[in-house]
This record gives sequence, C-alpha cells and structure tokens, in this order.
Amino acid sequence: TSFGFKEVREEEKSQMVGNVFSSVASNYDVMNDVMSAGLHRLWKDRLVEELNPFPGMKHLDVAGGTGDVAFRVLDSIKRRALRDAPEHYLQEETTIYVCDINPKMLDVGKKRASERGLGGDRSLIWVEGDAEALTFEDNSMDGYTIAFGIRNVTHIEKALAEAYRYDYYSFFVIPAVGEVVAGDRESYQYLVESIRRFPSQDIFASMIAEAGFQKVEYENLIGGVVAIHSGMKI
Ligand code: SAM
Repeated sequence: TSFGFKEVREEEKSQMVGNVFSSVASNYDVMNDVMSAGLHRLWKDRLVEELNPFPGMKHLDVAGGTGDVAFRVLDSIKRRALRDAPEHYLQEETTIYVCDINPKMLDVGKKRASERGLGGDRSLIWVEGDAEALTFEDNSMDGYTIAFGIRNVTHIEKALAEAYRYDYYSFFVIPAVGEVVAGDRESYQYLVESIRRFPSQDIFASMIAEAGFQKVEYENLIGGVVAIHSGMKI
C-alpha cells in the first residue's frame, strides 16, 4: 500500500532512527519535556488512564524507550491494587515488558527504574526488540501500547500485524505529534517529514481495523496534534 515512507529508503530510515535515538538517549526525557512543554506527561497519563491496567496484567509497551509509559502502567496498577485489594496484588504476577529497538534507551530506562527504587522490581522486564518482528508468543499479552513510536517503524502494517498477535483487550497508540529532535540535520529532517507523512487519524484507524482489531476508536488531544488510538482483539 502507499502508507509507508516510500521517499526515504528503508535502510536509510532504520539507520536514521537509530542515529536519532542513540544520540539523544541520555537527554531524551529532558528533550521530551522541552519539546512538548511538559505536555507529553499528561498525554501519557491519559493513555494509561484509558488502558486501565489491572493487577496480574501482562502488558507490552513497544518503543518503550526510557520506561515512561511502563512506569505509569506499574504505578496505576499499584494504586488500583492498594485501593481495591492489596492482598490480591501480591498474589498476582504483574509483568510489564518494555521493548525497544535501541539498547541505549533501555539502559537509560533501567537506570531510571533504579533511581525510582524499582531496580529489583520483577514486574519490569526490559527487552531489546523490533516492533515489526516481536519474539513474544501469540496470545501472551493482555495489553499493548506504543507511544510516539509507530511513526518510527518502517512498515506500519507489520507493526500492527505483530500487535494483533497478542491476546489483549486494548491497543493504544499515539501517532501524530508535533515533536522535533535536536539531532543532526538529516535526522531532524527525517523526523519532521515522518510526522508530516504519517497517515491521518481516520486512515490510521482504518489500518488498525484492517489488522483485525475491533472497536477501533481514537481520541484527539489538543486539537489533533496528538491522538490516542485504541482497538480490541476480541
Ligand atoms: N515510548 C517512549 C515515550 O513515549 O517516551 C519513547 C518514544 S521515542 C520518540 C521512540 C522510541 O522508539 C525510541 O526509543 C526508539 O529507539 C524506538 N524505536 C524506533 N523504531 C523502533 C522499532 N522498529 N521497534 C521498537 N522500537 C523502536
């Protein structure tokens, strides 16, 4: 189909994505704050609120970077458990997989986990992997999220097909974002282009449905600069 990023050669694209995120890994969180004026925090809060994670959940956060979404999912589960049934939380094995193609991002995430006192938390598992070719078993997850990451994959359809392999009740994505990176000029140009070329909310929703998901919906945030898409595998 014509949804890909045809103008940028595929190897170039992967390499550029690699360059961009390797060069920014350690400053990534600061950069996020600066570029979105801190709003990414609210968007991620909203994402996790919609996901409504539960104790015992097996959740996969792809393009998980430095763990920002995963930490929120874990916090949300802990809060819910404390509120509803503390004893239940201890019995249930919650697992949140943070999957990213870039090991440097994962390293920063692991460091941040330690800083938050989550270094030894068995609920967090860091996995190097490609959204287009994940190594988890079919039907092994309850939830899947990809935040500010679907734009970066070379074949969106492949990533969606991979997402659909897992048995999860929801699927949330934030595709469009007015985000720029202070990297080298080519990488920067690529990111700006990738945002411009990303399919519209409606087209992306239809791609999610084509991958097999049902009840596909999206919510625009701040007038559609950012959107949260969701779907279910029933
Ligand atoms: N989800 C995090 C957040 O919202 O803060 C990180 C978003 S960051 C803009 C995009 C991340 O996607 C980077 O950490 C990058 O390494 C990762 N990434 C890019 N292509 C990927 C792929 N094909 N599979 C998995 N991760 C990928």
